[in-house]
Amino acid sequence: MKIVKGINELKGYLVDSKRNGKRIGLVPTMGALHKGHLSLVERCVRENDICVVSVFVNPTQFNDKHDLETYPRTLEADCALLESAGCDFVFAPSVEEMYPEPDTRTFDFGTVMQVMEGAKRPGHFNGVAQVVSKLFYIVEPDNAYFGEKDFQQIAVIRAMVKQLQIPVQINACPIVREADGLALSSRNTRLTPALRQKAPLIARTLQESKALAATKSVREVIDYVVNTLNADPDLEVEYYEIVDGDSLVSIQDWKDTSYAVGCVTVYCGEVRLIDNIKY
Ligand code: AMP
Repeated sequence: MKIVKGINELKGYLVDSKRNGKRIGLVPTMGALHKGHLSLVERCVRENDICVVSVFVNPTQFNDKHDLETYPRTLEADCALLESAGCDFVFAPSVEEMYPEPDTRTFDFGTVMQVMEGAKRPGHFNGVAQVVSKLFYIVEPDNAYFGEKDFQQIAVIRAMVKQLQIPVQINACPIVREADGLALSSRNTRLTPALRQKAPLIARTLQESKALAATKSVREVIDYVVNTLNADPDLEVEYYEIVDGDSLVSIQDWKDTSYAVGCVTVYCGEVRLIDNIKY
C-alpha cells in the first residue's frame, strides 16, 4: 500500500493501470476510520483491481467551524486499518493540494440538495460536490463507494455525476451498526459515556416505527419518532422526514412511493447524529 499526498504522484501511479484496462475503485472518506468505512473498502477491494481510499477532511463541506476544527484526525491508525483491508493507495492530500485556489463552483442539483441536510447545513452539499468531483477527476474511478448512512449524500452524488456526465458507477453500501444498533460514525467518539448510552435509542425508535408503518399513517409514524426521541432530555430531533428514496420528496401517504425512507437528524447532547431506515 502506498500513501500518496500529491495529485500528480497519484495520477502517475494510476496511468499504467488504466492503460492496461484495470478497474479502479474509489472510497472517499474524511478519515477517523471505523468498520463502516472498512465495509466500503472491503467491497471496493473485492470488485476492482485497484482500490484507492481518499482521506481528506474537506473544509468546504463544513458549515460549522467548530465541527471542522474538532473533527478527529487519525491518519496513522487509518493507514494501518486500510493496509489490512487490502487498500492499494491512500490518497491523503493537504488542503493546499486540493484547493490551490478557492473553488468558486456553485452546483444546483435541485430538490435532492435542498431538502433535509441541504436546508439545515447550507453549503454542505455544494462542498461535498466540489471535493468529490475533484476526486473523480483525479482518480477517474470505474466504481465509487458511499455508505447509506449518509443517505441524502448518495442522491446528491448520483445527481452530480449525471449532470457533470462523469463516467463512474456509484455504489451504495448498507449502514454498519454497533451491536446496540447505533450507526457507526466518526463523531460517535465525541459522545460522553452517558450520551453513548442514550444514542442507540435513535436506531431503536426507527426500528419500532417500521412496525407501526403497517397500521399507522405517515404523519402518525413521524410523530411517534419525533415524540419518542424528544422525550429523552438528552436528545433533540432536528428533523424527521419520510421521503421517496430516489427523489427525496416528502411523502404524505405510504401509497406515494414503493421506496419510502425515513431520515433523521438528532442532537445527542452537542453531537449531531444522523440515521435512516427503509420502510
Ligand atoms: P465520512 O468519512 O464520514 O465522510 O464517510 C465516508 C464514507 O463512509 C461515506 O460514504 C459514509 O456514508 C460512509 N460511512 C460512514 N459511516 C458508515 C456506516 N456506519 N456504515 C456504512 N457506511 C458508512
